[in-house]
Amino acid sequence: MSDRRERVVVIGAGPAGLTAAYQLAKLGRAAFVIERDHVVGGISRTVNYKGYHFDIGGHRFFTKVSAVEQIWKEVLSSEEFLRRRRLSRIYYNQKFFHYPLKPLNALGGLGLVNSCLIVASYLWAKLFPKLPENNFECWVSNRFGWRLYQTFFKTYTEKVWGMPAHTIAAEWAAQRIKGLSLLVALKNALLKSGSSGDGVVKTLIDSFDYPQRGPGMMWERIAELVKQRGSHVTVGTVVDTISWRGNRVEAVRINRDGHSESIGADEFISTMPLRELIQKLDPPAPPEVEAAANSLNYRDFLTVALMLNRADVFPDNWIYIHDPKVSVGRIQNFKNWSPHMVPDQTKTCLGLEYFCFEGDGLWARTDADLIELGARELEAIGLAKRSEVEDGTVVRMPKAYPVYDDTYRDALKVIRTFLGRLENIQVVGRNGMHRYNNQDHSMLTAMLAVENMFGARHDLWEVNADQEYHEETTSREIQAKSQMGTLALTQPQVPASVPLTAHSGLVTAFARMDKLAFAVALGLVAGLVTFTATLFLVIKGGETVGRNMYLLSEFFFGYTVSVTGAMIGFAYSFLWAFLWGWTFAYLRNFILGLMIYRAKRKVELLSFREFVDHF
Ligand SMILES: Cc1cc2nc3c(=O)[nH]c(=O)nc-3n(C[C@H](O)[C@H](O)[C@H](O)COP(=O)(O)OP(=O)(O)OC[C@H]3O[C@@H](n4cnc5c(N)ncnc54)[C@H](O)[C@@H]3O)c2cc1C
Repeated sequence: MSDRRERVVVIGAGPAGLTAAYQLAKLGRAAFVIERDHVVGGISRTVNYKGYHFDIGGHRFFTKVSAVEQIWKEVLSSEEFLRRRRLSRIYYNQKFFHYPLKPLNALGGLGLVNSCLIVASYLWAKLFPKLPENNFECWVSNRFGWRLYQTFFKTYTEKVWGMPAHTIAAEWAAQRIKGLSLLVALKNALLKSGSSGDGVVKTLIDSFDYPQRGPGMMWERIAELVKQRGSHVTVGTVVDTISWRGNRVEAVRINRDGHSESIGADEFISTMPLRELIQKLDPPAPPEVEAAANSLNYRDFLTVALMLNRADVFPDNWIYIHDPKVSVGRIQNFKNWSPHMVPDQTKTCLGLEYFCFEGDGLWARTDADLIELGARELEAIGLAKRSEVEDGTVVRMPKAYPVYDDTYRDALKVIRTFLGRLENIQVVGRNGMHRYNNQDHSMLTAMLAVENMFGARHDLWEVNADQEYHEETTSREIQAKSQMGTLALTQPQVPASVPLTAHSGLVTAFARMDKLAFAVALGLVAGLVTFTATLFLVIKGGETVGRNMYLLSEFFFGYTVSVTGAMIGFAYSFLWAFLWGWTFAYLRNFILGLMIYRAKRKVELLSFREFVDHF
């Protein structure tokens, strides 16, 4: 028996949980929201440290889902919701580089000698690509050259994912960077096209909305609104067990300050990490489901917020740190997100972001150590002096990134089938569904889950960045389907062992011709024809019959209709046909490459710009 009975229990007060409660409140149904942390907002919270506000990563508000946008606009007024221009550059070797590359800026930053070496290494990669192209390192360096790859891709990617770039599947780079190359990047920059062909998408990447005092402001306001409408939002409370029987969840056992209570409900919405949800089931889930849940992995994240006694450090919202000498991956300048994020405009608050695994060396260091590390690294890369750092604090965020490894898809299938049998619990949100997605995805899944409680039949697992939404459609579902389609434009992507599907149609239709193989084949055919024709004439009776063949001696010095001449003829014919074949294959690949380039043109810029986003 439960100690308390509610109609709806929502686990987690992040964007997904609070959106569910908000939508329920609109429909007149109160929810009991349980949050483990002492603040709401989940990963999208804003921390307030002595009046300095900062995010867990910087959280841009951008979506193409109108229902999500509508909620944002109804919760915060237009004065509270700022439209910000985006500036985010790469910081390397004490220089700032624009992304996408701008030639003069790149040349100035890298220096003439280095730029020449980069071009030389690019040409080398084009002439002698590394094969097989089965890992990230190979894929990127084949397209950008080894030097540029080392400067702009290797270090940051390895910092984010915590694994050597040569162990990351090539498919991820292919999916992420699509068909981009150095030439394309430079051409984009030179022509200043700067457009993906979609004005809306361009707007999304160049500017974004942001609440005056960070994303937490949105979620704190929503928590207030749902409480006013009769819901409970209880923070500092952990869901310890989830009891189920047959095909229903009966109750959750919660723990607050050592006090335990069981809450029964008719319906449950969970946003807690999927792995944890399965581990907390009572009785335990079948062994194969537990094994699947245990195989889900996460990448964790910590922010070292440093307060500096300086008004301006850099103008960007955030910068990417590609310097291998330091561990920091990205630095946020929160004042540039909104001036309201700092209590005093003569000061600056920087968020130094470190990607790590829960429990590893970095994670386990004391806060004081991490603050010292942050200040030291800031000075090492030349952004600020150690002595300018006045104060600091550390926030650790476990499970910031659900990892898409080789096993996660199969694991999700098993878990999904099992959960599908429990008729009164729905899992939504980022870790709730093990989906590496943004706030809008979390919100949309929560909104659709609430509709399901009122009779709709949305399959929430189909709400994904790059998937079609398959279901029998009613008019509401058609609307939902179109909203799901638009999600694809705003979701980040992660390394995944996925089949190389991007542009597979084009790639198959215009498969690259192997120049060497074609040239050798053509050379052999031509050489053998000359050789056998000459021998044939020699055997048949020489000169009279072979008068026409003698003409070859005009072009092939030393050729005669003789056995030696047959061999000389073979060598000459092979060489000419080889050169001709190689040139032909090269030109063919080049022209078809241009055609493919044109076809992909619309999406390239966006892919390039978004390459390092959302890590
Ligand atoms: C570095 C970084 C940058 C990002 N940038 C952006 C961005 O620019 N724009 C954007 O839209 N999105 C961004 N995101 C993604 C965004 O943070 C998430 O999509 C969003 O917060 C997910 O919301 P959620 O409610 O699904 O999950 P969460 O935010 O994870 O919330 C889940 C909640 O459940 C609680 N919980 C977990 N277990 C229990 C338990 N046992 N009992 C009780 N409560 C529990 C957690 O404490 C948490 O509060 C970023 C993420 C990261 C890591």
